[in-house]
Amino acid sequence: MVKAHNFNAGPCVLPKKAIESAIEAIKNFDNTGIGILEISHRTPGWERIMAETEQLWRDLLHIPDNYEVLFLGGGASTQFFTVAANLLNKKAAYLQTGVWAKKAIKEAKFYGEVEVVASSEDKTYSYIPKGYTIPTDVDYFHITTNNTIYGTEIKYDMDCPVPLVADMSSDIMSRPVDISKYALIYGGAQKNVGPAGVTFVIVRKDILGKVERKLQTMVDYRTHIGEEKKNKSMFNTPPVFPIFVMHETLKWLKEDMGGVEGINKINTEKAQMLYDEIDRNSMFVGTAEKEDRSIMNVCFVMAKGHEDKQDAFMAFAKERGMVGIKGHRSVGGFRASIYNACPVESVKALIACMQEFEKLNA
Ligand SMILES: *Cc1c(COP(=O)(O)O)cnc(C)c1O
Repeated sequence: MVKAHNFNAGPCVLPKKAIESAIEAIKNFDNTGIGILEISHRTPGWERIMAETEQLWRDLLHIPDNYEVLFLGGGASTQFFTVAANLLNKKAAYLQTGVWAKKAIKEAKFYGEVEVVASSEDKTYSYIPKGYTIPTDVDYFHITTNNTIYGTEIKYDMDCPVPLVADMSSDIMSRPVDISKYALIYGGAQKNVGPAGVTFVIVRKDILGKVERKLQTMVDYRTHIGEEKKNKSMFNTPPVFPIFVMHETLKWLKEDMGGVEGINKINTEKAQMLYDEIDRNSMFVGTAEKEDRSIMNVCFVMAKGHEDKQDAFMAFAKERGMVGIKGHRSVGGFRASIYNACPVESVKALIACMQEFEKLNA
């Protein structure tokens, strides 16, 4: 069997070390003689993992004390309406940079008026809109920092005159973030911080409790924050196993990779290497506007005159162990997702594959 290079967009590659300790924990968690899939979430060993996981988030992203960190179920898609239910009184503003943003907009409309301040739908979301004005008469402004499908990314923390809400599903922990610029950050874990099944929410406490509507217990963020610290994210059964794997993934990030600052250097190098090859190679062309290129999802198609070789390259790459490089159907071509846990060797293997293909076909 050839070595598999995993470029899946999510769920995706995780650190080997995290997988190995997950296997061990399934057999025997915390020396209890009982596996993690079988323990009660009220055991002290588990409460310690919950507390440590929150601390890892706080340490890695330098999260200030006036923010809560929650681990919930339901995926980022559940946050699309939960955010609006908790924060939207009359009107919210959204930046439409892809179908995930569009889906968030759709859900927000259940709760109030939505102003789409700008959209890049006219060019298949291949760029991040610029020069728009954020209205000041809205309850919040919502952005999607990394557009997983199109390979565009807002790589800086913007100044915002109203509370800033960000879906960071696919670039959380890939770069340092100034948390204080945001009122709320959310995302599914399965792109960069763990397996599917757990959703993270980082929320500044003072923005909660301001909407006039009544909220269902599970929808209200304050339920999950709880009265006592120790009930945090444990109002109901949390996704125990995904949180455990997230714990191991973040430990790896902190201890082995130099934290978010360390991994950002590696991520930037990986992305630069691959974009350089795309720009150099006569067979391929990138689809995202250069200045908005994502360091997490690299999208490219066959260059003009080589369109007929798409299936051939897909087969060629597959033979050499490349997995998950098919682009989303709305963009076509190829997408290499090179998240934190994607090793540099995999990126180099893909580049070698592109070079070899060029030699044989150009
Ligand atoms: C994958 C993804 C989502 C959807 O996440 P789920 O956890 O599957 O609901 C939302 N936003 C972005 C940016 C994503 O990449």
